Amino acid sequence: CGIVGYVGAGAPDARPQGVVMGGLARLEYRGYDSAGLAVVTSDRDRVGMRKKAGKLVNLEKELAGRPLEPATAAIGHTRWATHGAPTDANAHPHLAAHGRLAIIHNGIIENFSALRAELQSEGVEFLSETDTEVAGHLLAREVDRGESLADAMRIITRRLEGAFTLLAVDASEPRTVVGARRNSPLVIGLGEGENFLGSDVVAFIEHTRTALELHQDEVVEITPEGVTITDIAGHTVEREPYHVDWDA
Ligand code: GLU
Repeated sequence: CGIVGYVGAGAPDARPQGVVMGGLARLEYRGYDSAGLAVVTSDRDRVGMRKKAGKLVNLEKELAGRPLEPATAAIGHTRWATHGAPTDANAHPHLAAHGRLAIIHNGIIENFSALRAELQSEGVEFLSETDTEVAGHLLAREVDRGESLADAMRIITRRLEGAFTLLAVDASEPRTVVGARRNSPLVIGLGEGENFLGSDVVAFIEHTRTALELHQDEVVEITPEGVTITDIAGHTVEREPYHVDWDA
């Protein structure tokens, strides 16, 4: 339902989590049944993740009781369940590669059951009933084969049918957030030494008003230094940013 992503240049700190939780609060008006976030930092082989069914306050309580470590990047999600009940396990993010990679998703992956059967036949274990989880395991499989996270995202989007905005982080690339979209929106926010992703500009409007749209079937990689957009075939796309001038 709502999506936020952040990467910064500084030492690991609380800002990634703060930006993502602030963005999720801004997106609350859209309605949702669960919320969660994942953070990534240098020198860890797993992402940190918290997720809870119910309102954002449930996630805030969880974070107060079990704080996440300082981070370099983060992704956050509010869920409107389409596949699988609104439980903690079905909330996003979903983990893959034994917790090294985390993914969030808006939309519906129409061909998820065929993909799940394929992954299960390779021994992959599923932890949720969502359509989303297949995308995380497909992505992990490509990264394990040696692809960068962005290349892996391009490869898997060719196999997905339906509507999706996807964001992913991987502990092996702690200064990168990767996104992709089809039939569902994703906007990029440009900061100074930090960059943002959102399902809507509202997600990052407090931090920057310089934005770029990701178009249909494109993949974006954000790092603290910049933004790289490619089409699904891997060709680099040049796009001029615009100024968001409405009052949010
Ligand atoms: N289809 C996914 C799910 O049920 C994503 C739903 C959403 O867009 O929030 O988990």
